[in-house]
Amino acid sequence: MRLVLLGPPGVGKGTQGRRLATERGWALISTGDMLRDAVARQTPLGKQAKQIMDAGQLVPDDVMVGLVRERTSEADTREGFVLDGFPRTVPQADALGAMLAERSQELDLAVLLQAPDEELVRRLSSRWECPVCRRVYNSLSAPAKDGRHCDDHPGTGLRQREDDSEATVRRRLEVYRRQTAPLVEYYRSRGRLREVTGIGALDEVYGALALAVAG
Ligand code: AMP
Repeated sequence: MRLVLLGPPGVGKGTQGRRLATERGWALISTGDMLRDAVARQTPLGKQAKQIMDAGQLVPDDVMVGLVRERTSEADTREGFVLDGFPRTVPQADALGAMLAERSQELDLAVLLQAPDEELVRRLSSRWECPVCRRVYNSLSAPAKDGRHCDDHPGTGLRQREDDSEATVRRRLEVYRRQTAPLVEYYRSRGRLREVTGIGALDEVYGALALAVAG
């Protein structure tokens, strides 16, 4: 199964996508995580991407398409993949379709997760992440056991993402509405769209997602 998780920042694409991919044996491809790794390693890509990401803007399409083209040709994607954070523009969606077609493959589904803006802003400002395994915690709804360190990496302090400040989150929501939301119609008109609520307990949202993927 090859699927795209669509939805605004903070709706739970990463958390739910990670669980879905792990349970089904599919690869999780998070372009945000790939970029954050490149920033941490100070690669040329990381240097180019850092300012753009901190400003809540989008990295150029050709860069992202190149990254995803390479990543989706790795062996662990053979049984399928979950894309989190890609495509984010219509040209990226076109490029994804074309690269799969070149391999005689296609995208099976785009699943849209939704939640109101105020909920997204609230979630993102209480979001904390383990820099080692990228597990995401929420100080309000899903805190780490001791509140400060990763449950799986006890010596590692959690940190907040630089782009999770309220002003940047609002900019990311605007960018989402302008550049990414058109993909909802894009996939709906191709008969590939399923919609799932991103509101509720993690397990409930996951249940709805699993149903959408099965049905
Ligand atoms: P995310 O972790 O998905 O919220 O992504 C964090 C940031 O990485 C975004 O705000 C963008 O600056 C950049 N980014 C991630 N994926 C893409 C993409 N497909 N196209 C352009 N920029 C991206």
